[in-house]
Amino acid sequence: MSLEAIRDQAVPVRLLQTMLRRNRLPNGLLFWGPDGVGKRLTAIALAQAINCAERPDAGCGACLPCRRVVKGNHPDVRLVTPVRKARIIDVEAIETVNELAALRPYESSWRVFVIDEADRMYPAAQNHFLKTLEEPPGQSLFILVTQHPRILLPTIRSRCQRIRFGGLAPATVAELLQNQRDLPRQTAQAIAAISQGQISRALDLVDTDKRDIALSIVEKLDHGDEPIVVAEDFVKHLEAQRKQIEAQHARENDEEDEQEATAEDKKARQERQKAVVDTMIRRDIMEYLHILQTWYRDVLVFDATGEEDRVMNRDRLVALESAQANGATEKLEALDRARLYLDRFINEERVFRDLFFALAAK
Ligand SMILES: [Zn+2]
Repeated sequence: MSLEAIRDQAVPVRLLQTMLRRNRLPNGLLFWGPDGVGKRLTAIALAQAINCAERPDAGCGACLPCRRVVKGNHPDVRLVTPVRKARIIDVEAIETVNELAALRPYESSWRVFVIDEADRMYPAAQNHFLKTLEEPPGQSLFILVTQHPRILLPTIRSRCQRIRFGGLAPATVAELLQNQRDLPRQTAQAIAAISQGQISRALDLVDTDKRDIALSIVEKLDHGDEPIVVAEDFVKHLEAQRKQIEAQHARENDEEDEQEATAEDKKARQERQKAVVDTMIRRDIMEYLHILQTWYRDVLVFDATGEEDRVMNRDRLVALESAQANGATEKLEALDRARLYLDRFINEERVFRDLFFALAAK
């Protein structure tokens, strides 16, 4: 893919093209911004441009070097990604990077390393990497890609030129969604609006039942179901989800146990796995709350303007039309409160019980 074909990231692309044209690439670049907006794609496109035989300022995407970069078999371009379900970049992976970086490029004038989800490097790996980044062997370019730059050591951050990526336009997300999934236009538009310009998040909403579950809560509460029962069901659903994620990770542990591991290793691994599961569940919960927020926001907007184009859940206009706008502001406030309480680790079931009582109010 050519740099020019990257969607909705005009500022980063222009910056990179200027660097290319002036031959002023730094040794470290940090691409940061939300997940699913094209950071990694841009890093690969930059690696193509550096190696391209036809269009060195943008990459053509079609010549042999360009194709080899995408296929992952260009000798001077290396993509490092987290491995295993625990999704870590370990010291070993970084050692390989360090060794390769010390060698001259084979074909190109640069060696390019794309480190995806760079925040998955644990501090030990980061420290290992730091030495190479501090004294980069001549022509090495390290592109660190992350949505959580703050997790990286400040010493790493400060040695990279930071380039910020924003969300994609909703129309772009809707178009990409329709290219990848068989969806009615209205649904694609609704999900694009809810996913805040992140294609990965939009795909998750299409492929999971999160949105149906969130909106069915609204439906049940509007129908007069007991908030306490709805909260119990929802917490049960979350527990089942947690068990599922844990089971996947347990399988991963078995795999690793086949190799010899000390008791300390195992303990550290268990703690790490728990943190990973907690983070995943937390992200899911926040997504449910976000979907609920889009709903009550839409209720207010539709009530005030009556304009379909302004609502996010535009595939649910019938339900929106009959929704009661009275009290929607208070419901949005209750959702903000729930977020706050969950951040303070107040018991989930209690938080949802209180929340659903507030959402059930007429
Ligand atoms: Zn090319």
